Amino acid sequence: MKVARFYAPGDIRVEEAPEPVAGPGEIKIRVRNCSTCGTDAKILKHGHHHIKPPRVMGHEIAGEVVEAVDAGEWAPGDRVQVIAAIPCGTCPECLRGRMTVCPNQESMGYHYDGGFAEYMIVPAKVLAVDGVNRIPDEIGFAEASVAEPLACVLNGQELARVGEGDDVVIMGSGPIGCLHVRLARARGAARVFLVDINAGRLEMAARLVHPDAVIHGEDVVEQVLKLTDGRGADVVITAAASGAAQEQALRMAARQGRISFFGGLPKDNPIIQCDSNLVHYRELTIVGANGSSPAHNAEALRLIADGAVPVADLITHRLPLAEVLEGIDIVSRGEAIKVTVEP
Ligand SMILES: [Zn+2]
Ligand SMILES: [Zn+2]
Repeated sequence: MKVARFYAPGDIRVEEAPEPVAGPGEIKIRVRNCSTCGTDAKILKHGHHHIKPPRVMGHEIAGEVVEAVDAGEWAPGDRVQVIAAIPCGTCPECLRGRMTVCPNQESMGYHYDGGFAEYMIVPAKVLAVDGVNRIPDEIGFAEASVAEPLACVLNGQELARVGEGDDVVIMGSGPIGCLHVRLARARGAARVFLVDINAGRLEMAARLVHPDAVIHGEDVVEQVLKLTDGRGADVVITAAASGAAQEQALRMAARQGRISFFGGLPKDNPIIQCDSNLVHYRELTIVGANGSSPAHNAEALRLIADGAVPVADLITHRLPLAEVLEGIDIVSRGEAIKVTVEP
C-alpha cells in the first residue's frame, strides 16, 4: 500500500509499505479521507518532539472498517471517524473528565501511524476511550474528517463560554477561524467579526462564512471598539500563532469578556505583554485550549451531520495521497480553506 511517512524536517516521502494487520482489540480501516491542517505544515518544517521517524502522518481521519479483531461493536463495512488526541482514561485528570489535558496524551500520526495511508490500524487505546465514531448516513467521509478540528474548536468555545447574544471576534481566517465563525453562530452569537492580516485569505474566508464584518489593518482594536460602540467583544478567540494578536485580544475584550488563546505560540517566542489591571478591573477570563476529547469528536460529528455546522463548502481541495506534499504546501501558503487527502 501507499503511505506518506515523515523522516525528517523537509523530508516526507510517499512510498510503498506492507499493509498493517489488526491485532486483538484493534480495527483496521481503509482510509477514505485524511484532511491536512497547519499542524502538518509545522511538522513538515520543524518536525515534532513526539514523532520518532519514520512515521505515517495524518490525524484528521475518516474511513471504512475492513478488519475488526475482538473490537466490540465494530465490523467490516462500518464508516468511522477517529480521534486524533488519545487520553489515557485512567489518570487523575481523565477521571475528573478533563481528557484534553491528560498528561499521558498520545496522538494519531505522532505516537501511532496516522491516516496518510491506504490502510491504518486504530490502536486498542483509542477504542478503550470511545475514540471511534460511527459516521451518520447523511455525510461523506471528507466532511467526517473535519470533525476532529471542529472538536478542538468546540472545546475552545466551551471553555470561552461562547453563547447567546455574544459579540465574538475571531482572529485568524484559516480553516480553524472559519470553523470558529460557524460554531459561534450555531451557539447563538449575536455578531461575529473576522480578523486577518492576510487580505486575500480573509476575503476567501469571508465569502464562505459571511462574518458580520471583516477587520484588516493596523488598528484592529480600534475597529472592534467602533463596531461595538466602545464596549469591546464578549469573546475574542485567537486562531493564529501570533503573540501580537493575543495582546490585541486583551485590549478589545468587553468587561467580563473571555479571551481564548486558541492557537499556541512558537516554542522559541511564547512570552507576551499583558496589562494585568485590564484583567483585574474588567474581570476578564483568559483561557487556553488543547485539542479535544473523544466526547468533543462525537459532538462535532453530530453538529456536522445535523447541519448546525456545515463543512462541505469549506473543503476547497481534494488530492490523492501522491500529492500530499502539494496539499501541505497549499495549506502553508494560506491558499486553501480545507485540503483533504483521499488515499
Ligand atoms: Zn489538524
Ligand atoms: Zn489521562
